[in-house]
Amino acid sequence: MSFVSAAEADKKAYDVIVVGSGAAGGQTAYTLTMDGARVLMLEAGRRYEPAIETPMMQTNGDAPLRGAGTPEKPFGFWDATIDGGWGVPGEPYTSASDDPARKFMWWRARMLGGRTNHWGRISLRNGPYDFKPYTRDGLGFDWPIGYEDLAPYYDKVEMLIGVYGSNEGLENTPNSSPGVLLPPPKPRVSDLLIQQRSKKLNIPVIAGHRAVLTTRLDHQRLPKLLHPGNAKAQKILAEDMQKRAACFFATPCGRGCSIRANYQSTTVHLPPAFDTGNLDVVTDAMVRSITKRKDGGAEGVVYIDRKTGTEHRVKARVVVLAASALESVRILLNSGVANSSGKVGKYIMDTVGANFSGQVPLLENMPLHNEDGVDGLHLYTPWWLYKEQLAGKLGFARGYHFEFGGGRNMPGMGTASGLEWLNGGTYGRKFKEDARRYYGSFVGFAGRGEMIPNEDCYAEIDPKVKDKFGIPILRFHWKWSEHELGQAAHMQKTAAEIIDAMGGRYSVKPQSGDKAIKQGGVIIHEVGGAIMGSDPKKSVTNSYGQCWDMKNLFITDGATLCSNADKNPTLTIMALAWRSAEHMLGLMKRKEL
Ligand SMILES: Cc1cc2nc3c(=O)[nH]c(=O)nc-3n(C[C@H](O)[C@H](O)[C@H](O)COP(=O)(O)OP(=O)(O)OC[C@H]3O[C@@H](n4cnc5c(N)ncnc54)[C@H](O)[C@@H]3O)c2cc1C
Ligand code: SF4
Repeated sequence: MSFVSAAEADKKAYDVIVVGSGAAGGQTAYTLTMDGARVLMLEAGRRYEPAIETPMMQTNGDAPLRGAGTPEKPFGFWDATIDGGWGVPGEPYTSASDDPARKFMWWRARMLGGRTNHWGRISLRNGPYDFKPYTRDGLGFDWPIGYEDLAPYYDKVEMLIGVYGSNEGLENTPNSSPGVLLPPPKPRVSDLLIQQRSKKLNIPVIAGHRAVLTTRLDHQRLPKLLHPGNAKAQKILAEDMQKRAACFFATPCGRGCSIRANYQSTTVHLPPAFDTGNLDVVTDAMVRSITKRKDGGAEGVVYIDRKTGTEHRVKARVVVLAASALESVRILLNSGVANSSGKVGKYIMDTVGANFSGQVPLLENMPLHNEDGVDGLHLYTPWWLYKEQLAGKLGFARGYHFEFGGGRNMPGMGTASGLEWLNGGTYGRKFKEDARRYYGSFVGFAGRGEMIPNEDCYAEIDPKVKDKFGIPILRFHWKWSEHELGQAAHMQKTAAEIIDAMGGRYSVKPQSGDKAIKQGGVIIHEVGGAIMGSDPKKSVTNSYGQCWDMKNLFITDGATLCSNADKNPTLTIMALAWRSAEHMLGLMKRKEL
């Protein structure tokens, strides 16, 4: 079994249909197929083969505009995102408001593996507080599970995909079990300076957690831990782990990794799932809606073949939506199912984002050196003001973390631009000297914080507009609350204090929250829209992503998250998907589905 045509899939019988092949679909299909379930994966995007399509070694100078971002390729010419971005041709979305502050930006990636081919690979666990936020401060919703329910699945996902980091035992920043994390990479010079000066301000700086192999995975130990009692799965995984190389610390992860040293669904989840012989994938398969059995259960799905425009119908015992949070919401709304609570589309969330950067004279004129490292987070600051916040001293609820940018990565279009505020504007030889002097002396702070679900942020079906396949599209409503605005202002103020402590300077002063905050959706951590809960009247699914109204319909992407902690959501999505798939397997084995 492997890639099949729509016509071939029509003729076969499957246990489970999985819609989408990103982090959620990949994890769901992996767990199901490794345990023997026959899975059909339907992916709207095209087939994508990282081993031959990844432009790892090309320089920015090899690309048009020196690789700079364009509306079609916002993250640059070589970025791994194919057929995606803030806009997808022929597949619009609309906003209920013309006010830019109330517009939601929606990023999609129409390709096998979805956004996991590009993503930042920052993989932080939610902590115990993050599962019970309402109990802590009376805002938002508690999850129907606690940290202890998900901890074993965080361990499993980290062992499977490979995550580096350290265990620091800090408040609400959980440790992984011993032997789970890979060693963190050496910090960059700028990170070390941030760490040294932050200490004076009592701000912690610790190793980041990212899904990158700093060493090869232990193929003898890990498969036994991940698949106890399943010799076939252990063998497949052991063989596959040996085909993944360790990172060689020199190329941009956002282009993908052909040596499979970082996590992409296409390089980590799908290869072993294919090797089980239990996975069929149809690409260019745009799912429109869920079909219903006479008894009210899910029968299967209807999808459009993007290449031919023809409609297909497939059936299975179980249907899983893993099309990314808001695409799954769209499918649910277009199907008119699983919505007796009226909560489908409600409580969509992104991560709060505000950036701040500065220049540090101490980092000028550094000797030539390569600081690419793992091309992402080496160190970061977890939220640290829990006590002050609980005592009401901050004026906003919920925390954020800082991701640091800095060092000397591969030069691009903007490397020596925007120096006028430092040198008054130079050209010729002086400009070249300045470019060398300042290269690598800038530090950036990306504050990433928790958004509280609110009644003003939701998606609905646009009554008029359809996409090029004739499928009704989403219309968004969006409004940040005072908590998020307060948080964004605090991010910039604190980043400025750290830059001050580094002896640095900045061209723009910290701003008020409404100016500092990024537009909704810009951080690309959208979750919610079909939240889990313990009350069917107030939620769409239970803690397994199983719809209250349709017992054989599951959602394993971020749509079920009922809060969006400051921790980037994908590791949590994968841990939930593993737990959910295990639950499905149990129900199927007991013939309860
Ligand atoms: C630039 C960028 C940086 C990021 N950095 C991080 C980070 O560092 N850490 C982090 O935690 N998260 C990060 N994210 C977010 C992360 O990529 C997502 O949280 C994650 O990919 C979600 O997984 P998913 O499977 O739900 O969705 P996706 O990965 O988007 O996959 C969904 C798949 O479903 C397919 N699909 C959609 N609709 C249909 C349909 N109707 N029929 C069939 N198939 C369909 C899509 O084509 C896609 O392939 C980042 C995202 C971007 C874009
Ligand atoms: S930095 Fe490492 S993980 Fe990232 S693309 Fe390069 S080799 Fe792969």
